[in-house]
Amino acid sequence: MSSYKLLTPGPLTTTEKVKREMLIDRCTWDDDYKNVTQVIRKQLLDLAQVDESEYTAVLMQGSGSFIVESVLTTAIGEEDKVLILANGAYGERIVEMAEVLKLQHVVYSVPYDEQPSLLEVQALLEKDPSITHVAVVHCETTTGILNPIKEIGEVVHSFNKTFIVDAMSSFGGVPMDLSGLYIDFCISSANKCIQGVPGFGFVIAKTEVLEKCNGQARSVALDLYNQWEVMKKDGKWRFTSPTHVVAAFAKALEELLEEGGIRARYERYAKNNHLLRSRLSALGFKAYITEELQSPIITTFLFPHKEFSFEHFYHEMKKAGFVIYPGKLTDVDTFRVGNIGDIHEEDMLALCEVIENYMVVKNNEN
Ligand SMILES: *Cc1c(COP(=O)(O)O)cnc(C)c1O
Repeated sequence: MSSYKLLTPGPLTTTEKVKREMLIDRCTWDDDYKNVTQVIRKQLLDLAQVDESEYTAVLMQGSGSFIVESVLTTAIGEEDKVLILANGAYGERIVEMAEVLKLQHVVYSVPYDEQPSLLEVQALLEKDPSITHVAVVHCETTTGILNPIKEIGEVVHSFNKTFIVDAMSSFGGVPMDLSGLYIDFCISSANKCIQGVPGFGFVIAKTEVLEKCNGQARSVALDLYNQWEVMKKDGKWRFTSPTHVVAAFAKALEELLEEGGIRARYERYAKNNHLLRSRLSALGFKAYITEELQSPIITTFLFPHKEFSFEHFYHEMKKAGFVIYPGKLTDVDTFRVGNIGDIHEEDMLALCEVIENYMVVKNNEN
């Protein structure tokens, strides 16, 4: 298999040092390993700019969706009702989970290229006082749109509801102060902006809210409360822990701090995203999301013309050492390019040059 840089939103390109951590087999019962978990939990709170007296971090096995489902089943009781804001596939996945889990829910669907309206959120909460929770995706990876969680959080807080945020593709790459955002459950995973490998996710939860969730989960494996009960004591995971992934994640956290923290990482992502958007725009690639709503995480581009073959383009990019992502929209033909991972300005410049050459060759053929 030839190696390439992943310009996809997870799994993503990781550093050599992160990968190297996985060459050691670790014992889940050993104090050294349990301590790795405890250090990670503490570092996650620091990254979220919250204090141990108010918030707690819980790690959970599985891909990101497992963690979202674990929060939904643990936090939302039978008497509760969740308002779900959906402007992409990940918001819709929350709706699907709510249906399967038989949670009482209300859906506010928004076109994929628009943010939810604050007035509408407010109106929905006013109209239905039985709503107890609000769930939203921060960066909708489907398109790359960034949702206004600060403003939504203010509305949710003013109605005194529990706020669940799927910050899967933004946490660690976009500065967030959880308590200032009124977030009660913030969900992310190892293989996104922290730049680890896939295998587990984490929740940063307001402790007093999580404390009330005992016995509520309709799942054994995904019971976030029980996971927390066991883990908070000394860092022991319930069930098999993804030891190699956890060790790699600990290294990835170290590297995030070395880079200068979330602010510095955000700036690298944003700079690369801006570079990509502007160079591709000059070649006739229009971005699906306007610049003001665009996250620095991933960008959706429309096909430049009807004859454009994504297949051909994809294979030429792969040959040149870059793997891009197909689009996820049904009404327009698109593809996506991610900015997260161990990707630097020289990679972006090289990618843009490859795309420029591709377009020159294609234009000459026509
Ligand atoms: C990646 C991602 C998820 C989780 O997807 P998995 O494939 O289960 O890891 C959930 N929400 C968002 C916004 C994501 O970007």
